[in-house]
Parts: sequence; C-alpha cells; structure tokens
Amino acid sequence: MFNFSQYSDLCIKCGKCIPNCTIHRINPDEVTSPRGFLELLKGVEEGKIPLDERAKDIFESCFLCNQCVSVCPNSLPTDFMIENVRKEIGEKFGIAPFKRAFFYLLSHRWAYDLVAKLGFIFQSCGFKIEKEKNSMRSRFNLPLIKKGRLLPSMKRKSFLRKYPEKIENPSSNSDSPRRKVAIFIGCLANYHYTEVGDALVNILKFLNIDIFIPKKQLCCGAPAYFTGDFKTTEKLIRHNLDYFATFIDEVEAILVPEATCTAMLKKDYREYIEHYLPEYRELHRKIEKKIFGTTYWLHNFTDLKERLAQLESPDPVEVTYHDACHFGKVFGIREEPRQLLSQIGEVKEMEDPDLCCGFGGITIQTEKYHLAEKEGRIKGEMIKKVDADFVSAECSACRIQITENLDKVGDNKIFKHPLELIWEQIERGIGKRKGSGKNSQ
Ligand code: SF4
Ligand code: SF4
Repeated sequence: MFNFSQYSDLCIKCGKCIPNCTIHRINPDEVTSPRGFLELLKGVEEGKIPLDERAKDIFESCFLCNQCVSVCPNSLPTDFMIENVRKEIGEKFGIAPFKRAFFYLLSHRWAYDLVAKLGFIFQSCGFKIEKEKNSMRSRFNLPLIKKGRLLPSMKRKSFLRKYPEKIENPSSNSDSPRRKVAIFIGCLANYHYTEVGDALVNILKFLNIDIFIPKKQLCCGAPAYFTGDFKTTEKLIRHNLDYFATFIDEVEAILVPEATCTAMLKKDYREYIEHYLPEYRELHRKIEKKIFGTTYWLHNFTDLKERLAQLESPDPVEVTYHDACHFGKVFGIREEPRQLLSQIGEVKEMEDPDLCCGFGGITIQTEKYHLAEKEGRIKGEMIKKVDADFVSAECSACRIQITENLDKVGDNKIFKHPLELIWEQIERGIGKRKGSGKNSQ
C-alpha cells in the first residue's frame, strides 16, 4: 500500500485547506475535507480504518480541484494521495465496466475514432442536437444519464483527422527565423469541441508560426488517473513521452489548449514518474519544459497581445472568465488569458472566478452526479449574475459542466474557449488597424 503517512504526518492541522475545499463546501463534514482525508488515509495505511464501501464513498467524493494543495503551508499533495487510494479502491472493488470501456477508447485511437464516427451518425437518435451550445440533450433516461442532460455533441471529423501533420507557414520569410510548435489537443477538443483546435491553428498561422500536429498522440491519461486506473495511466504516460521524445528537439513548444491535460502532462506525470517510473525522470524533465497552456504561451512568447491591440474590433466581446482549477490553482495562470481577452473586448469578473465549476471527473459525472449538480448550480448562478455575452475558460471539462449548469439556471450565455473568441475577433478585424480604418492585409 502507498505510504500515506509520509505526507499525513506533515499535516499541522491548521485547517487552511478547509474553507474553499469543493467537497467540504457542499458536504460540510470533517471527513470530507482535505485534513480529514489525510487523517483517514493514515488510518487506512495503519489498518485502523477498513477500506470498505463507506471509505470508498468518501475518497471518491473529492473533486481533485487542487484548492487544498495550493493553500497548504506544507504543500501536501492531497490530490496525489487521493489518486493513490483510488488505485487501492480500484484493485479491491474493481473498476466499473463502463469506465474500463471508456479508458480502452482513450488508449486506442482507432477505437475512439470508430466510436466517435458512429456517435456522430447516430447521436440524433437518442439526443437532440443544440448546435449553438455545441451540445446534445438526452431525449430519454439512459443508464447514468438523466433525460434532459446536456452533453458535448460529436463532430463529423476529429481535429487530428482534419489537419495534415505539418502546416508550414507560407508567409514565413528567410529573414526572420522560422518558429515551430506542436499541438497536443486533448480528447474533448479532438472529438467534440474541434473549434478550439481550429482557432489555435488559425492564430498560429496569423502569427506566422509553423505547426506540427503529432498524429500518434494519445489521451494524457487524466480520466484514468483520477479514477485510480494506474495501469492505463502508465501505458499512456510511456506512450506519450516516448512519442514526444521523437520530435521535442524540433519544436520550441508543445501547446495544450486544455488546463487539465496541461496539468496532467506536467505536474501529474512528474508526481507519478517520481514514485513509479524513475527511468522516465530525465526525459520528462526535458519535455515538460516545453509544454505550455495556450494563452500562457501566446501571451508570454509571441506578440499576439500587441497585434490584437492593433486590430479594430467592430464588435468588442463582453466575457466573464472562469479560472479552471488546473490552471489557476495548479500553475497560478490567471492573468494571461485575461490580458489577451481584454484586447478584444471587456472581461467582466464574476464574484469568485476561482471557485471550482464542479466537474470532478468521470465518477462524479456519473455515479456521484448529485455532487456535480450541487457545485455546478453555485457556479451557474454566479455566472448568471454577470452582464456579459460569453463565459470562457481554458478547459473543455469546465465547458461541459458550465454549459449544463447555465442551462439549468436559465442563463443564455454561450461558452467559448478564449482561443475561439480571440480568433473570431481577429477574423472580424483582420487587417483593420486602429486609426487606419482600411484593410491592409
Ligand atoms: S482536491 Fe479539492 S475537493 Fe479534494 S480535498 Fe482538495 S480542496 Fe477538497
Ligand atoms: S492546509 Fe495542509 S497542513 Fe493545514 S490542515 Fe490542510 S493539509 Fe494540513
């Protein structure tokens, strides 16, 4: 069993992690708090607390939002400990067949491609497509999905199938050094929210940057890891790192438009490798230096902000920005997306943009959906109060959860990824520079 007490013993019981803990907010009980989890895990390790159904229920209720880790004075990795106890739970109770089937798809591209294709053809049989929301609404009560629930709809062609492997920029000239980046797209943007990848490709073209789309990339592994399926997780870590190693020297960055995938590829891979795959330490250290969230990289390593400032915005956007936990809490990335968005319109702050949206992962979205509903409603009501046209976050899991909860609270705001909003505005104002009023490209 994992050595939980190496961390539990360092807990000074200060309670700083409790006030904003997502599960504690909706279930205010010490056992469902970070401090409580640490104490229970020590008890499990020492054999004083049985790993029974009750314990399973408790440990599966953590949203893995990372709030506790970000405020803990000892930086105790409560999320990593929860992931490890879920591994024990998976081994003892087994992982539900529907989750195993899903993880199989995540680690076999051909199978996911096939299911996505069939899903696209037949989705309208069981679901009503709501194009504007990029969603489909279930027509019936299905196993684990209630009638009326909004889920992301399938696309005719995935992002990875839509584009060639190399997109070289014809406008790059020999005077300035060519720049080249790779894209790690993430499963949700690959199969469902393909507009995100389209926007990223277009923005990179606009910036004269060459693009490499690594076709053999697989899921980062986050859904399996957060569920305790370490076998699938490890397979995906090995595959992705071995594959990234084949092109890492040829690109200056691997851009990821998803907070959760970015955190998984950098922070979670690092933790996992440290404990279970030491032979990958060096390779991961080299690769993770080049992995970036998209708005962070575009803001800090290109002149996109300045170029946006030059564009004439015929119709500035009004947007409220939600900080996805895996960017805000894990990396402290909050300013960069706002800086870019404020060049194309106005960012109107919600009361607490850092408050978790309540997505929580596959278990919370299915077997513990009542928890996602409770937290999602708080976020939905908060967003509803803002007078804006759009809500944005750099995370497709947040997109699923926020889109559904805005629907529940009766708010018409549309969710768009910051890249989509930025590209749409570039398209509208392209070539129209402030002051000139005429098309110069
Ligand atoms: S990860 Fe989030 S939900 Fe889980 S214990 Fe920490 S603060 Fe609470
Ligand atoms: S903030 Fe850290 S040290 Fe303080 S109670 Fe929470 S886990 Fe323990």
